[in-house]
Amino acid sequence: MRFSLKLMLRPSLVCLMLVLSSICFSLPVTQSKESPIAIVIHGGAGTIKRELMSDEMEERYHEVLAMAIESGYQILKDGGSSTDAIITTITLLEDSPFFNAGHGAVFNHDGDIELDASIMQGDSLNAGAVAAVSRVKNPITLALAVLEHSPHVMLVGEGAEMFACQQGFDLVPNQYFKTERRRLQLEEILAKEKGASLSKTASNALLAAYRFDEKKLGTVGAVAIDKRGNIAAGTSTGGMTNKRFGRVGDVPVIGAGTYADNNSCGISATGHGEYFIRAAVAHDICARMEYKGISLQQAQDEVVQEKLVKMNGSGGVIGIDKDANVAFSFNSLGMYRASIDKDGVRQVKIFKDD
Ligand code: ASP
Repeated sequence: MRFSLKLMLRPSLVCLMLVLSSICFSLPVTQSKESPIAIVIHGGAGTIKRELMSDEMEERYHEVLAMAIESGYQILKDGGSSTDAIITTITLLEDSPFFNAGHGAVFNHDGDIELDASIMQGDSLNAGAVAAVSRVKNPITLALAVLEHSPHVMLVGEGAEMFACQQGFDLVPNQYFKTERRRLQLEEILAKEKGASLSKTASNALLAAYRFDEKKLGTVGAVAIDKRGNIAAGTSTGGMTNKRFGRVGDVPVIGAGTYADNNSCGISATGHGEYFIRAAVAHDICARMEYKGISLQQAQDEVVQEKLVKMNGSGGVIGIDKDANVAFSFNSLGMYRASIDKDGVRQVKIFKDD
Protein backbone atom coordinates (compact mmCIF):
# COMPACT_ATOMS: atom_id res chain seq x y z
CA MET A 1 0.00 0.00 0.00
CA ARG A 2 2.73 2.42 1.12
CA PHE A 3 4.78 1.53 -1.91
CA SER A 4 1.96 2.37 -4.35
CA LEU A 5 1.24 5.70 -2.57
CA LYS A 6 4.90 6.67 -3.00
CA LEU A 7 4.67 5.85 -6.68
CA MET A 8 1.58 8.04 -7.03
CA LEU A 9 3.21 10.96 -5.16
CA ARG A 10 6.42 10.89 -7.11
CA PRO A 11 5.18 12.41 -10.44
CA SER A 12 3.31 15.19 -8.60
CA LEU A 13 6.41 16.01 -6.54
CA VAL A 14 8.49 16.26 -9.68
CA CYS A 15 5.89 18.62 -11.21
CA LEU A 16 5.90 20.78 -8.10
CA MET A 17 9.69 21.05 -8.21
CA LEU A 18 9.59 22.02 -11.87
CA VAL A 19 6.99 24.74 -11.22
CA LEU A 20 8.98 26.10 -8.26
CA SER A 21 12.25 26.14 -10.16
CA SER A 22 10.69 27.93 -13.14
CA ILE A 23 9.32 30.58 -10.73
CA CYS A 24 12.79 30.95 -9.17
CA PHE A 25 14.53 31.33 -12.51
CA SER A 26 12.04 33.91 -13.77
CA LEU A 27 12.48 36.12 -10.66
CA PRO A 28 14.96 39.01 -11.10
CA VAL A 29 18.33 38.12 -9.49
CA THR A 30 18.95 40.50 -6.59
CA GLN A 31 22.71 40.71 -6.01
CA SER A 32 23.56 41.26 -2.34
CA LYS A 33 25.60 44.47 -2.16
CA GLU A 34 29.29 44.05 -1.35
CA SER A 35 30.72 46.11 1.50
CA PRO A 36 33.77 48.24 0.81
CA ILE A 37 37.01 46.62 1.96
CA ALA A 38 39.86 48.19 3.94
CA ILE A 39 42.87 47.14 5.99
CA VAL A 40 45.12 48.91 8.50
CA ILE A 41 48.24 47.66 10.29
CA HIS A 42 50.75 48.83 12.90
CA GLY A 43 54.25 47.78 13.88
CA GLY A 44 54.41 49.45 17.28
CA ALA A 45 54.35 52.97 18.72
CA GLY A 46 56.99 54.79 20.73
CA THR A 47 59.90 57.19 20.68
CA ILE A 48 60.76 56.87 17.01
CA LYS A 49 63.04 59.83 16.26
CA ARG A 50 63.60 60.89 12.66
CA GLU A 51 67.15 62.00 13.39
CA LEU A 52 68.05 58.53 14.68
CA MET A 53 66.75 56.64 11.67
CA SER A 54 68.86 56.30 8.56
CA ASP A 55 67.19 56.65 5.15
CA GLU A 56 68.05 53.05 4.45
CA MET A 57 66.35 51.83 7.63
CA GLU A 58 63.29 53.97 6.95
CA GLU A 59 63.05 52.49 3.47
CA ARG A 60 63.29 48.94 4.80
CA TYR A 61 60.47 49.56 7.29
CA HIS A 62 58.36 51.04 4.51
CA GLU A 63 59.02 47.99 2.34
CA VAL A 64 58.07 45.42 4.95
CA LEU A 65 54.95 47.30 6.05
CA ALA A 66 53.86 47.72 2.40
CA MET A 67 54.52 44.07 1.60
CA ALA A 68 52.54 42.89 4.66
CA ILE A 69 49.52 45.11 4.03
CA GLU A 70 49.37 44.33 0.31
CA SER A 71 49.22 40.60 1.02
CA GLY A 72 46.26 41.09 3.36
CA TYR A 73 44.54 43.46 0.94
CA GLN A 74 44.85 40.96 -1.92
CA ILE A 75 42.93 38.41 0.16
CA LEU A 76 40.13 40.93 0.77
CA LYS A 77 40.04 41.86 -2.93
CA ASP A 78 39.71 38.20 -3.89
CA GLY A 79 36.68 37.91 -1.61
CA GLY A 80 38.55 36.32 1.31
CA SER A 81 37.61 36.93 4.94
CA SER A 82 38.94 39.70 7.15
CA THR A 83 40.22 36.94 9.46
CA ASP A 84 42.34 35.39 6.69
CA ALA A 85 43.61 38.84 5.69
CA ILE A 86 44.83 39.79 9.15
CA ILE A 87 46.30 36.35 9.88
CA THR A 88 48.38 36.50 6.68
CA THR A 89 49.52 40.06 7.39
CA ILE A 90 50.38 39.52 11.05
CA THR A 91 52.22 36.25 10.27
CA LEU A 92 54.48 38.14 7.85
CA LEU A 93 55.21 40.79 10.48
CA GLU A 94 55.88 38.11 13.12
CA ASP A 95 58.44 36.55 10.76
CA SER A 96 60.26 39.86 10.23
CA PRO A 97 63.10 40.56 12.71
CA PHE A 98 62.18 44.27 12.67
CA PHE A 99 59.21 43.89 14.98
CA ASN A 100 58.64 42.88 18.58
CA ALA A 101 56.59 39.80 17.67
CA GLY A 102 57.62 36.27 16.70
CA HIS A 103 61.22 36.26 15.40
CA GLY A 104 62.87 39.43 16.75
CA ALA A 105 60.68 39.77 19.88
CA VAL A 106 62.08 41.33 23.05
CA PHE A 107 63.78 39.33 25.84
CA ASN A 108 62.29 38.85 29.29
CA HIS A 109 64.35 39.26 32.48
CA ASP A 110 65.68 35.70 32.23
CA GLY A 111 66.86 36.09 28.66
CA ASP A 112 63.99 34.14 27.12
CA ILE A 113 61.19 35.11 24.78
CA GLU A 114 57.53 34.88 25.83
CA LEU A 115 54.90 35.81 23.27
CA ASP A 116 51.28 37.02 23.48
CA ALA A 117 48.68 37.28 20.71
CA SER A 118 44.95 37.62 20.20
CA ILE A 119 42.30 37.79 17.49
CA MET A 120 38.62 38.80 17.51
CA GLN A 121 35.84 38.58 14.92
CA GLY A 122 33.23 41.35 14.82
CA ASP A 123 30.30 39.33 13.44
CA SER A 124 30.15 36.78 16.27
CA LEU A 125 32.27 38.48 18.97
CA ASN A 126 34.31 35.27 18.98
CA ALA A 127 37.83 35.68 20.26
CA GLY A 128 40.99 33.65 20.85
CA ALA A 129 44.17 34.57 22.72
CA VAL A 130 47.43 33.06 23.89
CA ALA A 131 49.87 34.41 26.46
CA ALA A 132 53.45 33.60 27.49
CA VAL A 133 54.03 31.01 24.78
CA SER A 134 57.65 30.37 24.00
CA ARG A 135 57.78 27.74 21.26
CA VAL A 136 55.00 28.59 18.79
CA LYS A 137 56.47 30.16 15.64
CA ASN A 138 53.42 32.29 14.82
CA PRO A 139 51.40 32.96 17.98
CA ILE A 140 48.63 34.72 16.01
CA THR A 141 47.82 31.43 14.26
CA LEU A 142 47.56 29.71 17.65
CA ALA A 143 45.21 32.48 18.85
CA LEU A 144 43.02 31.70 15.82
CA ALA A 145 43.12 27.98 16.67
CA VAL A 146 41.93 28.84 20.20
CA LEU A 147 39.06 30.83 18.68
CA GLU A 148 38.10 28.11 16.22
CA HIS A 149 38.83 24.87 18.04
CA SER A 150 38.60 25.43 21.79
CA PRO A 151 35.74 26.30 24.12
CA HIS A 152 38.04 28.86 25.82
CA VAL A 153 39.16 32.39 24.99
CA MET A 154 42.67 32.56 26.45
CA LEU A 155 45.30 29.84 26.93
CA VAL A 156 48.65 30.48 28.58
CA GLY A 157 52.16 29.00 28.76
CA GLU A 158 52.62 25.24 28.70
CA GLY A 159 48.89 24.57 28.43
CA ALA A 160 48.69 26.71 25.31
CA GLU A 161 51.62 24.77 23.85
CA MET A 162 50.00 21.42 24.66
CA PHE A 163 46.94 22.66 22.81
CA ALA A 164 49.18 23.75 19.92
CA CYS A 165 50.63 20.22 19.68
CA GLN A 166 47.14 18.71 19.71
CA GLN A 167 46.21 21.04 16.88
CA GLY A 168 49.19 19.85 14.83
CA PHE A 169 51.43 22.90 15.30
CA ASP A 170 55.18 22.24 15.02
CA LEU A 171 57.03 23.82 17.92
CA VAL A 172 60.28 25.72 17.41
CA PRO A 173 63.11 26.16 19.95
CA ASN A 174 62.99 29.47 21.89
CA GLN A 175 66.29 30.29 20.21
CA TYR A 176 64.43 30.83 16.91
CA PHE A 177 62.93 34.09 18.24
CA LYS A 178 66.19 35.54 19.59
CA THR A 179 68.14 38.27 17.82
CA GLU A 180 71.39 39.94 18.88
CA ARG A 181 69.80 43.41 18.83
CA ARG A 182 67.18 42.40 21.39
CA ARG A 183 69.77 40.60 23.54
CA LEU A 184 71.84 43.77 23.72
CA GLN A 185 68.77 45.79 24.68
CA LEU A 186 68.17 43.50 27.67
CA GLU A 187 71.86 43.59 28.58
CA GLU A 188 71.75 47.39 28.67
CA ILE A 189 68.69 47.48 30.94
CA LEU A 190 70.17 44.90 33.30
CA ALA A 191 73.43 46.86 33.47
CA LYS A 192 71.52 50.07 34.28
CA GLU A 193 69.56 48.29 37.03
CA LYS A 194 72.89 47.40 38.65
CA GLY A 195 74.04 51.01 38.28
CA ALA A 196 76.63 49.87 35.74
CA SER A 197 76.97 50.62 32.08
CA LEU A 198 77.60 48.40 29.10
CA SER A 199 81.11 47.64 27.94
CA LYS A 200 82.30 49.88 25.11
CA THR A 201 82.04 47.05 22.57
CA ALA A 202 78.53 46.08 23.65
CA SER A 203 77.26 49.64 23.67
CA ASN A 204 78.68 50.31 20.19
CA ALA A 205 77.05 47.16 18.91
CA LEU A 206 73.80 48.22 20.54
CA LEU A 207 73.90 51.66 18.99
CA ALA A 208 74.52 50.18 15.58
CA ALA A 209 71.73 47.67 16.10
CA TYR A 210 68.90 49.93 17.18
CA ARG A 211 69.75 53.54 16.66
CA PHE A 212 66.40 53.92 15.01
CA ASP A 213 63.96 53.06 17.77
CA GLU A 214 63.47 52.44 21.44
CA LYS A 215 63.87 49.23 23.32
CA LYS A 216 60.40 47.81 23.57
CA LEU A 217 59.03 49.00 20.27
CA GLY A 218 57.47 46.84 17.61
CA THR A 219 54.27 45.07 18.62
CA VAL A 220 52.29 44.28 15.47
CA GLY A 221 48.58 44.39 14.72
CA ALA A 222 46.04 44.47 11.92
CA VAL A 223 42.36 45.27 11.44
CA ALA A 224 40.39 44.53 8.26
CA ILE A 225 36.84 44.62 6.91
CA ASP A 226 35.85 42.20 4.15
CA LYS A 227 33.25 42.24 1.36
CA ARG A 228 30.65 40.79 3.73
CA GLY A 229 31.16 43.72 6.10
CA ASN A 230 32.86 41.55 8.73
CA ILE A 231 35.55 43.19 10.82
CA ALA A 232 38.46 41.24 12.35
CA ALA A 233 41.24 42.57 14.58
CA GLY A 234 44.44 40.91 15.80
CA THR A 235 47.61 41.81 17.70
CA SER A 236 50.89 40.00 18.47
CA THR A 237 53.84 40.91 20.70
CA GLY A 238 56.82 39.87 22.75
CA GLY A 239 55.66 42.34 25.43
CA MET A 240 58.20 44.55 27.22
CA THR A 241 61.97 44.02 27.50
CA ASN A 242 62.99 42.74 30.96
CA LYS A 243 59.45 41.69 31.92
CA ARG A 244 59.35 39.43 34.97
CA PHE A 245 57.26 36.98 36.97
CA GLY A 246 55.11 35.85 34.04
CA ARG A 247 54.06 39.41 33.18
CA VAL A 248 51.34 39.56 30.51
CA GLY A 249 50.42 42.84 28.83
CA ASP A 250 47.32 44.13 27.06
CA VAL A 251 47.78 42.30 23.76
CA PRO A 252 46.06 39.01 24.64
CA VAL A 253 43.48 40.74 26.88
CA ILE A 254 40.32 41.03 24.79
CA GLY A 255 38.99 44.58 25.17
CA ALA A 256 42.42 46.01 26.07
CA GLY A 257 44.78 45.36 23.11
CA THR A 258 42.26 43.93 20.65
CA TYR A 259 38.52 44.23 20.04
CA ALA A 260 36.14 43.87 17.09
CA ASP A 261 32.40 44.40 16.83
CA ASN A 262 30.57 44.77 13.50
CA ASN A 263 28.21 47.26 15.21
CA SER A 264 31.01 49.74 15.81
CA CYS A 265 34.65 49.02 14.88
CA GLY A 266 37.76 46.88 15.18
CA ILE A 267 40.82 48.04 17.13
CA SER A 268 44.40 46.85 17.62
CA ALA A 269 46.57 48.67 20.16
CA THR A 270 50.24 49.10 20.95
CA GLY A 271 51.91 50.79 23.88
CA HIS A 272 52.54 50.43 27.58
CA GLY A 273 50.29 47.45 28.20
CA GLU A 274 49.56 48.00 31.88
CA TYR A 275 47.81 51.30 31.04
CA PHE A 276 45.95 49.80 28.10
CA ILE A 277 44.55 47.08 30.37
CA ARG A 278 43.48 49.59 33.03
CA ALA A 279 41.81 51.82 30.43
CA ALA A 280 40.20 48.90 28.53
CA VAL A 281 41.38 50.81 25.47
CA ALA A 282 40.14 48.74 22.52
CA HIS A 283 36.68 48.08 23.93
CA ASP A 284 36.30 51.61 25.22
CA ILE A 285 36.84 53.01 21.71
CA CYS A 286 34.20 50.67 20.23
CA ALA A 287 31.77 51.43 23.07
CA ARG A 288 32.18 55.21 22.74
CA MET A 289 31.38 54.95 19.02
CA GLU A 290 28.29 52.89 19.68
CA TYR A 291 26.91 54.68 22.74
CA LYS A 292 27.84 58.26 21.85
CA GLY A 293 27.37 58.00 18.07
CA ILE A 294 30.77 59.63 17.46
CA SER A 295 33.23 58.88 14.67
CA LEU A 296 36.01 56.31 14.97
CA GLN A 297 38.63 59.07 14.87
CA GLN A 298 36.93 60.99 17.68
CA ALA A 299 36.49 57.86 19.82
CA GLN A 300 40.17 56.93 19.32
CA ASP A 301 41.33 60.47 20.16
CA GLU A 302 39.19 60.64 23.33
CA VAL A 303 40.79 57.45 24.62
CA VAL A 304 44.38 57.85 23.33
CA GLN A 305 44.90 61.63 23.51
CA GLU A 306 42.82 62.35 26.65
CA LYS A 307 42.10 59.32 28.85
CA LEU A 308 45.50 57.61 28.37
CA VAL A 309 47.45 60.87 28.49
CA LYS A 310 45.89 61.72 31.87
CA MET A 311 47.00 58.31 33.12
CA ASN A 312 50.51 58.72 31.60
CA GLY A 313 49.92 55.76 29.30
CA SER A 314 51.87 56.04 26.06
CA GLY A 315 51.07 54.32 22.79
CA GLY A 316 48.54 54.22 20.01
CA VAL A 317 45.78 52.38 18.18
CA ILE A 318 44.62 51.56 14.66
CA GLY A 319 41.04 50.83 13.65
CA ILE A 320 38.34 50.39 11.01
CA ASP A 321 34.67 51.17 11.58
CA LYS A 322 31.60 49.38 10.23
CA ASP A 323 31.51 51.72 7.20
CA ALA A 324 35.13 50.85 6.36
CA ASN A 325 36.60 54.17 7.54
CA VAL A 326 40.21 53.84 8.68
CA ALA A 327 41.72 55.81 11.59
CA PHE A 328 44.90 55.97 13.71
CA SER A 329 45.66 57.76 16.94
CA PHE A 330 48.89 57.76 18.97
CA ASN A 331 50.32 59.93 21.72
CA SER A 332 53.96 58.89 21.17
CA LEU A 333 56.49 60.39 18.76
CA GLY A 334 55.78 57.81 16.12
CA MET A 335 53.96 54.65 15.16
CA TYR A 336 54.86 52.28 12.35
CA ARG A 337 51.61 52.15 10.40
CA ALA A 338 50.05 51.50 7.01
CA SER A 339 46.57 51.45 5.54
CA ILE A 340 44.65 50.79 2.35
CA ASP A 341 41.30 52.52 2.65
CA LYS A 342 37.95 51.85 0.98
CA ASP A 343 38.99 53.91 -2.07
CA GLY A 344 42.18 51.88 -2.43
CA VAL A 345 44.34 54.80 -1.20
CA ARG A 346 47.61 53.56 0.29
CA GLN A 347 49.57 55.10 3.17
CA VAL A 348 52.76 53.91 4.87
CA LYS A 349 53.99 56.16 7.69
CA ILE A 350 56.31 56.17 10.67
CA PHE A 351 56.65 59.62 12.26
CA LYS A 352 54.00 61.94 13.64
CA ASP A 353 54.65 64.55 10.98
CA ASP A 354 54.81 62.08 8.03
N1 ASP B 1 51.47 46.52 24.43
C1 ASP B 1 52.61 45.67 24.49
C2 ASP B 1 52.71 45.14 25.90
O1 ASP B 1 52.58 45.91 26.84
C3 ASP B 1 53.91 46.35 24.14
C4 ASP B 1 53.85 47.28 22.95
O2 ASP B 1 52.83 47.39 22.30
O3 ASP B 1 54.88 47.94 22.66
O4 ASP B 1 52.96 43.98 26.09
